[in-house]
Amino acid sequence: MTARSGRDARGPLAGLLIAALVSLACAGGGLAEPEGERPGADPPAASPGATRADSTTSVAEFKQDVADAQAIAERYWAAQFKQSGQRFQPIRQIIPYQRSGEVSCGGQALPRNNAVYCSRGDFIAYDVAWSVAAFRQVGDAFVFYLLGHEYAHGIQVRLGINYSFTIQQELQADCMAGAYLGDSVRSGALTLAEGDLDEFREGLAAVGDDPDQPWFAEGAHGTAEQRTDMFFRGYERSLKECGLG
Ligand SMILES: [Zn+2]
Repeated sequence: MTARSGRDARGPLAGLLIAALVSLACAGGGLAEPEGERPGADPPAASPGATRADSTTSVAEFKQDVADAQAIAERYWAAQFKQSGQRFQPIRQIIPYQRSGEVSCGGQALPRNNAVYCSRGDFIAYDVAWSVAAFRQVGDAFVFYLLGHEYAHGIQVRLGINYSFTIQQELQADCMAGAYLGDSVRSGALTLAEGDLDEFREGLAAVGDDPDQPWFAEGAHGTAEQRTDMFFRGYERSLKECGLG
């Protein structure tokens, strides 16, 4: 997966992010609880014979993908907000962490093996080891999906979207992640490599809830089928499929 002018674009965008850090301080509100993806879970297991289109697995490559995914998400959502005449503030910060409790959200320590958007503080945080393991096992597309999903939670807060059930919030975030990626491919901001679509499917299959998890349970995200379906609805037909746009 390649971001158009990825490396060159990072200079000005990095500057923007620093400016946003200074001006935003600490935005709160929205979802009260830190909301994680599969807390305590192992990294998604690769299916046998899964192909990686680009066999780059270094931590440097991972970090570059996170930076590219962030830059593309910022550009994408800035354009959406502009279209509807609203001001857009990028998510304040993306924080990698290594130890349990190293980062907290609203006074709650974040555990290992997790990635969250924290509305109190307006940041995304992720366990580096867990994310790199998923990146190595599933592929680089997983990084773009994960970042896109967490970024979507930040957008939900900005739009004041707060569904009654977590599963609604989660499936909409999957749909929005799909729309951000599909639209970015259509606009030429992002180019898929062979196998990237399979990597999305594989990643989504891995983050699905256990089949015996009730849909209305606190923290329910949706089954692998539901999550895959919503992601690809957004991917193929954009934000209107997510109840937006
Ligand atoms: Zn989520």
